[in-house]
Amino acid sequence: MQDCVSHGVFVQDFDPPPRSGTSGQCGQRVVGMDMGLNVVEVDSPGVSAEVLEDLASASRSLEGLEPQAVIAWAAARYGQRLTMATAFGPEGCLIIHWLATVAPGTFVFNLDTGYQFPETLELRDRIARRYGVEVSLERPDTTVEEYERAHGGPLHQADPNRCCADRKIAVIRRVLTRFDAWMSGIRRDQSADRAAAPIVGWDSKFNVVKISPLANWTKARVWDAIVRDDVPYNPLHGQGFISIGCLPCTRAVTFGEDERSGRWSGTAKTECGLHSRD
Ligand code: SF4
Repeated sequence: MQDCVSHGVFVQDFDPPPRSGTSGQCGQRVVGMDMGLNVVEVDSPGVSAEVLEDLASASRSLEGLEPQAVIAWAAARYGQRLTMATAFGPEGCLIIHWLATVAPGTFVFNLDTGYQFPETLELRDRIARRYGVEVSLERPDTTVEEYERAHGGPLHQADPNRCCADRKIAVIRRVLTRFDAWMSGIRRDQSADRAAAPIVGWDSKFNVVKISPLANWTKARVWDAIVRDDVPYNPLHGQGFISIGCLPCTRAVTFGEDERSGRWSGTAKTECGLHSRD
């Protein structure tokens, strides 16, 4: 293992990983990480114990580094096999801001369900102008009109899990088959579902490595960096929308409400499924 400085970012240079699932014994009880990032036994079919141990070790090493260093590490390790998904939340915009310097050729994509806010799509264009990063809009096989016609109307009220599965999960699954690792902007303090997110770990839902450079950051820290570096963000944040997803499933929140309480408000649903195990 060597140390190096990349684009002004101090990063440890790890050896390339074995291709996921190609060594060790797969489809058995293997090691993963618990909330304290300790190695534990979990069910992770499709990935070897060797790969999980390697990722757990990398995650522990990266835990105390700045997100820019995590991004540089990911880019150095996975190169063109790394991608990033963004819904253009503040965390995603901040990662793109860093990525534009550290690894500008990284493929960045957005799950364009057809139900996004116009402000979100306009932000995509502002980011392209500012950084030269053209976020790819990845769409389902059907338009909103075709989808609603096939189901006798919109499903976002009647069956939001099905709607998310068809218009988000199926799409990201299709995109991620082309990559070995994906990066997201989730933070541990956003929700109980995300509290155990390692910096680097195995995503058993999509069978790729998942990297969360901001996992141990707070919302306040993210906004400090956005203001300091004049990073573009969604103007809806100034109107009470804290976590922004699709228009029909997002409302503004009032003072004191949880930051994700405006998503699928009034239902038990809290995640679209991208960041949960099931
Ligand atoms: Fe459908 Fe709402 Fe999920 Fe968007 S967030 S895919 S509109 S259920």
